[in-house]
Amino acid sequence: MDKELLAMLVCPLCNGQLEYDREARELACHYDGLAFPIREGIPVMLPEEARVLSADEKLKPSPGRTGDA
Ligand SMILES: [Zn+2]
Repeated sequence: MDKELLAMLVCPLCNGQLEYDREARELACHYDGLAFPIREGIPVMLPEEARVLSADEKLKPSPGRTGDA
């Protein structure tokens, strides 16, 4: 996924930075504990489409972290 596009994306709920999980193809907000799916390369930024992260997932940031430069 395009890094510039990713940098523009924020959580629709808290406006926080999202974390891209390239294996799960999800954008996670650890603040809200939600993961937004990426379908056909297009992030679906709808809270009703998001997956709720498990407590375990919330604790461990994914290794696919895209940096905070
Ligand atoms: Zn959020």
